[in-house]
Amino acid sequence: MHHFFYRNNELYCEDVPIRMIAEKVGTPFYLYSHATLKRHFLIFNEAFEGLERLVCFSAKSNTNLAVLKLFKSLGSGLDIVSGGELYRGLKAGFSPDKIVYSGVGKRIHEIDYALEAGILMFNVESLEELELIDKRAGFLRTEAPVAIRVNPDIDPKTHPYISTGLKKNKFGIDMETAIDGYKVASRLKNINIVGIDCHIGSQITESKPFIDALESLKNLINELRQIGIQIKYMDMGGGLGITYNDESPPHPREYARAIVDSLKGSHLHLILEPGRVIVGNAGILVSRVLFRKSGKVKEFVIADAGMNDLLRPTLYDAFHAIEPVVRTEDKPITADVVGPICETGDFLAVDRKIPDVKKGDLFAVMSAGAYGFTMSSNYCSRPRAAEVMVRDDRFHVVRDREIYEDLVDGESLPPFLDD
Ligand SMILES: *Cc1c(COP(=O)(O)O)cnc(C)c1O
Repeated sequence: MHHFFYRNNELYCEDVPIRMIAEKVGTPFYLYSHATLKRHFLIFNEAFEGLERLVCFSAKSNTNLAVLKLFKSLGSGLDIVSGGELYRGLKAGFSPDKIVYSGVGKRIHEIDYALEAGILMFNVESLEELELIDKRAGFLRTEAPVAIRVNPDIDPKTHPYISTGLKKNKFGIDMETAIDGYKVASRLKNINIVGIDCHIGSQITESKPFIDALESLKNLINELRQIGIQIKYMDMGGGLGITYNDESPPHPREYARAIVDSLKGSHLHLILEPGRVIVGNAGILVSRVLFRKSGKVKEFVIADAGMNDLLRPTLYDAFHAIEPVVRTEDKPITADVVGPICETGDFLAVDRKIPDVKKGDLFAVMSAGAYGFTMSSNYCSRPRAAEVMVRDDRFHVVRDREIYEDLVDGESLPPFLDD
């Protein structure tokens, strides 16, 4: 967070006053700090020094081309979950052999696209998917490199919507079935078994669930070796949490230490798929107060950013700190920060002690770099926000604010309406 700071009571991103960007770009907008993105990636990557590893940034947390391009230039690979993310990754210049593809619902054209591109591996999430990938690889006269995504039934102790490694979750294949899956895979002509994968959840704030998952995977790798199946890549997924409020997740170095210690000398090639921990605190959402309203029981700050811009508070009850862009001496207030959307669930903060921001004031929604813009929508026909990147004293609009024409792009009127 060192690159978002106050100078003379004004919030800066690196060497640029945020107020100045708002005047040029309008609000709301997402703002990413180049220095923070870079630092977070390098700290994470270097934490695994001593191991053969590939850090595959998880595209779904932030797919902006400028962000992807930066990570690519730092040596990152990419974790994708759709054909669209593959398209973005290739556009950003990622080498296909550094791309891993997860997701429970891969479609035929997406599988073909990834096979033709020549990705590093498919993280396969069901036996039917395995058979389909084999068939498509045969059709395209190629071989499909696969890992099976196992579900180690571990409670990551995070929000239920972002727990993915429990038996009741839709992700991966349970440990017993996974062995059968590998046996099936080893008989399929066009499948090349290269790895094993898990991803147990997101915003995980302790090391233990990761260690437990690691041990499960190691056991499975041993069992597989006994039946003659060799594993090269061990993909530990993503999921390391960040501080939004008062969480104290392990530092990437602490998280890495346990993994490095456990894998040293194993000849396994480690793959990691971090998203949030790299970009979450490297971005903010900047919004302006449209109105203040004093209800009978609540004070409302009505902002020009809403749930269509940042869904996390609505979807997960997520906490995002609210900070003023210009600090004043005024006493803090307790208020709901709400958006313009016609939903009661449209809030950025509820019953929160916040700075006394008034009509026309700018404020920042902190820690919004992950699952912010990527989850945004056009609900209520609101053009999506601009995205801006700062580097030192420069800034660049890395995605234009949408305009009204964008809203109807692709819509067409059937001739029979005129009948
Ligand atoms: C979402 C996702 C990630 C990234 O999770 P973070 O919590 O953002 O690190 C990694 N791998 C897979 C398969 C995912 O679906």
